[in-house]
Amino acid sequence: MTDTLPDPNVPGETIPDWTNQKSFVVVEAMLKLPWSGKGRRAFSCGFCHHQFEPGDTARWFFGGRRTLNTFVCQACDGPDVVERWYKFWAEVISPILDRWCSYR
Ligand SMILES: [Zn+2]
Repeated sequence: MTDTLPDPNVPGETIPDWTNQKSFVVVEAMLKLPWSGKGRRAFSCGFCHHQFEPGDTARWFFGGRRTLNTFVCQACDGPDVVERWYKFWAEVISPILDRWCSYR
């Protein structure tokens, strides 16, 4: 187990606190975290699905309003990012969820 967990004493292995919803620079150690889903797919931008690499600037924010929290890359981030996220859910995700529910 210890070989997969980042060592906070190793330079470059310090994981930034992303839960404060502020931008951070992706470090190698973050890629070793057990992200949900296969591989690192969950650690990607919710808008363009860019998979984060060390050195990328990323941000995490609360989705709220029946969406999921997500990471956003620097290119997709902006002051209206939460509104765009709601719009994306309303136009793309919700219809898919509705379709799934109709099969039950
Ligand atoms: Zn993006």
